[in-house]
Amino acid sequence: MFDNVNYLNELQIADRMTHNSPYPIQTLEISPSSLLRVDMLAPVSYEGEGFIQLANFPRLSAEAASVNPEDGFDCQIFSWHQDDRPLMGVKIRGRMAIACQRCLDPLGLELEIHKTYVFLKTEGEADEFPLDRDDEEAMVASTHFNLLEAIEDEILLELPHAPKHPVGQCQLRPLEADMEKPNPFKVLKNLKK
Ligand SMILES: [Zn+2]
Repeated sequence: MFDNVNYLNELQIADRMTHNSPYPIQTLEISPSSLLRVDMLAPVSYEGEGFIQLANFPRLSAEAASVNPEDGFDCQIFSWHQDDRPLMGVKIRGRMAIACQRCLDPLGLELEIHKTYVFLKTEGEADEFPLDRDDEEAMVASTHFNLLEAIEDEILLELPHAPKHPVGQCQLRPLEADMEKPNPFKVLKNLKK
């Protein structure tokens, strides 16, 4: 299938490269402390890439079946300016384990998320800003944008509401499995109707 979102993000990178950004490119360290406060009003274009462990996301850790050092997310960010507004593209890719809602054993999730933040001057402007795509979000530009929290929000939104192992891989005990099957007498009764 044609990866539309990815294609658009590649276009944005190409756009930034061809329309010489008026601002110097600055490397943004991808670490929990540096992502807590990102100055989106600074006259720079950011870029950065790095791995953030699951343990650094408290709300995600609470949802996780276990928190291992290898669990976490590769984050790639890049910002640019368009019509005098800062924009930031974020690519998140990684894994974590959550509990299967049927057997409660860990269920591994692989996630890949693409998001573009458009920064406006005021809350009102952000509310009214027409967004073209689902992966865009309007934010209020500040000197202390909490990118760590924004990334955690994106991942939380991607988590399935009732995660379950595929049939055949679930550790559900046979007795409970039987209870989930339709009662044969009920099925027969319905057929007679
Ligand atoms: Zn299961």
